[in-house]
Amino acid sequence: MIELASAQEKVLLAVQQASPVVLPIQEAYGLVLAENIVSREEVPHFANSAVDGFAVRAQDVANTPATLRVVDEIAAGGIPNVAVGPGEASRIMTGAPMPNGADAVVMVEDSTEDTTRHEVVLHASVQTGQAVRPRGDDVHIGDVVFRVGDVLHPAAVGVLASINVYRVSVTPRLRVAVLSTGDELVDDGTPLALGQIRESNRTMLMGLVTQAGCEAVDYGIVRDNEQALEETLRTAASECDAIVTSGGVSMGAYDVVKALLGRIAHMTWMQIAIKPAKPFAFGMLDAPRESAPNRQVPIFGLPGNPVSSLVSFELLARPALRKMMGKTPALRAPLLAVADSSLPRKTDGKVHFQRVVAKSHSDGHIHVAPVSQQGSHQLAASALANAVAVLPDGNGVAAGGEVRVLLLSDLVEEA
Ligand code: AMP
Ligand code: MG
Repeated sequence: MIELASAQEKVLLAVQQASPVVLPIQEAYGLVLAENIVSREEVPHFANSAVDGFAVRAQDVANTPATLRVVDEIAAGGIPNVAVGPGEASRIMTGAPMPNGADAVVMVEDSTEDTTRHEVVLHASVQTGQAVRPRGDDVHIGDVVFRVGDVLHPAAVGVLASINVYRVSVTPRLRVAVLSTGDELVDDGTPLALGQIRESNRTMLMGLVTQAGCEAVDYGIVRDNEQALEETLRTAASECDAIVTSGGVSMGAYDVVKALLGRIAHMTWMQIAIKPAKPFAFGMLDAPRESAPNRQVPIFGLPGNPVSSLVSFELLARPALRKMMGKTPALRAPLLAVADSSLPRKTDGKVHFQRVVAKSHSDGHIHVAPVSQQGSHQLAASALANAVAVLPDGNGVAAGGEVRVLLLSDLVEEA
């Protein structure tokens, strides 16, 4: 058996960050920037009002109530018609340009307007600059708003639009082929014959691939037949950037993924000192393209037991996909949590990854409790876990003890 860290290192060393592409920003959510973004525009582009109210000279409302003559009305998108002189005010809406002469805005809540007399009584004094958003308050020309390596979260994409940047150079979203192997698998809704099971890993893995920010591409069920598998893998390698398979990587007589990858894909077969997900096959399949004669596509051969598949994806495939998409760090950082009940285990030379439910707690710590069943075939029991507890070799953790966890999805809020 090899240590998990060396298995992860092997995989991470074998894969490389994909070459950048230029995409419309609407297709770039969650992707990693491959260029610095320097703004050529100011945001906001002009001084404007932060509230609905009256643009005034602050000195005119030093003593309140102050009665001013209303000389103009300025809507968002409109332009001021006249300057604001002494004793005057312009009615102004949020986002509308400040008129010349005015240096502050009194909000409408602090006013009583007499529209027939074109007058307003203001009940509050304001400092110079109050409720005015100066030009360039958010972004200046020349500002580096984002840098190579930054992830384009939705707000970042919004900023790009706000500075007139509609196409960006990014590390592309990977297309990841997902397939399952096994003569026993069915997914056509027919009654199960003895020995058959309903395929589930592929559906799960496509979701995990999507959650990792990639595009999942379905290559179906492949029977335990090397020729069929080779055909599917070669097609997938020519069409996709990575391949995730489930099943066929342990010690059985029909473990075709292992056998085939050993023959065609520079495979490293590993027995990793973890539970679940001990067997793992990793291969690089030659898939030359005219533009890239040395192109190779990584194949992650995950074990077939559903919970093993889940854990194996998390520990070995996801980090590599992240590296290929330029996301750092590739590996999740473990968090410290409090074990609400004991997390027992037996000494066996392996690190155990027990599925737990992790909750936020009013004491400010994360608290975890194990799911009811920890068998690697019991996906139903593990399905609502949002974290795995990392239990080094030994006897586990007692109730109330501290444990490291990998958070797989959002924390559950304490009820
Ligand atoms: P294998 O790794 O191919 O020996 O499979 C190990 C166990 O996982 C067997 O009980 C398989 O039937 C089961 N299994 C394999 N692939 C899948 C799948 N795609 N969906 C559900 N169970 C599977
Ligand atoms: Mg199998």
